[in-house]
Amino acid sequence: MKKNDRIQLKITDMGVNGEGIGKTEGCTFFVKNAVIGDTVSAVVTKLKKGYGYAKMQEVLEPSPDRVKPACPAAESCGGCQIMQLSYPAQLQYKEKKVRENLTRIGGIDLTSCQFDPIIGMDTDVPLCYRNKMQYPLGRNADGKTISGFYAGRTHYLIGTENCPVALPEGDRIRRAVCEFADAQEISIYDEEIGEGLLRHLLIRQGYATGEIMICLVINGKSLGSEKKEQAFVEALLAADSNVRSICLNINKEKTNVILGREIRCLYGEPYITDALSCGTGGEGAAEKSLQFRISPQSFYQVNSAQTEKLYQKALEFADLKGNETVWDLYCGIGTISLFLAEHAAKVVGVEIVPPAIENAKENARLNGIANAEFFCGLAEEIFPRAAEDNDFRADVVILDPPRKGCDRSLLDAIRKVGPEKIVYVSCDSATLARDLKILTGGAEEEATSGNNVLPHSYKVEKIQPVDMFPNTVHVETVVLMTRQ
Ligand code: SAH
Repeated sequence: MKKNDRIQLKITDMGVNGEGIGKTEGCTFFVKNAVIGDTVSAVVTKLKKGYGYAKMQEVLEPSPDRVKPACPAAESCGGCQIMQLSYPAQLQYKEKKVRENLTRIGGIDLTSCQFDPIIGMDTDVPLCYRNKMQYPLGRNADGKTISGFYAGRTHYLIGTENCPVALPEGDRIRRAVCEFADAQEISIYDEEIGEGLLRHLLIRQGYATGEIMICLVINGKSLGSEKKEQAFVEALLAADSNVRSICLNINKEKTNVILGREIRCLYGEPYITDALSCGTGGEGAAEKSLQFRISPQSFYQVNSAQTEKLYQKALEFADLKGNETVWDLYCGIGTISLFLAEHAAKVVGVEIVPPAIENAKENARLNGIANAEFFCGLAEEIFPRAAEDNDFRADVVILDPPRKGCDRSLLDAIRKVGPEKIVYVSCDSATLARDLKILTGGAEEEATSGNNVLPHSYKVEKIQPVDMFPNTVHVETVVLMTRQ
């Protein structure tokens, strides 16, 4: 077999990035856009020892789990990698991914803990769920302003009219922004040379309130004149009656990072307010709804219906009695902290983004919660430093880091302090598995504390995958660990 050969493959598995996997002549092939159960014909694009890559030519026999993607751009856009898989099969794929990562990378024995079936959305067609979208702006061949997506792993912009996983209001708004840019002849940022004004458009909508925030990221201080900015505000207010906040974000750096530090608010406040509900008192208890202010730079879970289920699990796993001090590390705008506060003596949240911590403090006030304290800084610096104080207490630690997981020094500091429970909320089961291995004491060789054996280690008790990002390969997982 050699490159450019045409092969026929039965797809028997799917990889971590959603690619189909099949074997022929002793060689394992990875085929993008093929799904488990398909028989496909493909052309070999790369051949290594024992494995290779192939480009799909035709689905010869479709898998019973293959469906027509709800989005015509599904294959070219990098966003939804497994939209061609039925929703039940997507959930199976994700559950298996979590199991495999936890056993292979984490060395976790899943027979000695409780692994619950993944919690999916209450629908078989999981669309219109994303409450936040960030669209790059560009020009099409006719010179018209477009918004859309970079084709998978490139910076080639594909203009799209609508995005079926986003809330539909966003499509109307981005059309209005593009029309405004054309009418006012506003330039588009060119990342090669670092010139031009419009970079990205961020749209966020409250799940319960419907409030819409629009934040235009520009390579400059303004849209050119006060008159143009006024026209921009008017165009957006006319696009949707739920628009509550219109901001400019100034980003003059030559960088892939979307948002800059500075915000200029053109209309309303530089935040929107949303509400989330959570049954916080165990089964049958009344739902508690809390309000949250969210700034453009703050993190807020993108799928609110699933967020409520996720937080509910985190609360259930924490199983607070009322006398605990809880540390909510990577707390964002304080969502988990504030749901826990009612059931704890005290909650301390730590977060690196200053506007998010401002939101968290404001959110505590807004909901009349007095036993929550928030600190801005790195979790791996603030927590170990606080642990040196004589009156330091940590009974439960919540960890909810970004995809790269926790810093090793933080995990070692937790094992030094020894809280009774750890609830780890993760959006990447590979780094979760790596971190669980450390917390269970399975990765001692690289401990940051030198040769001193850390006094505490943890046992994984419960694992709960939750589908926050339908149609993508990503999966959220909540884990309860207890001190040994
Ligand atoms: N628990 C929150 C936020 C989770 S997202 C929620 O459910 O909404 C992870 C958060 O960690 C982000 O807000 C990010 O800004 C923050 N973060 C990233 N690295 C950090 C670090 N080293 N220390 C503290 N916060 C960090």
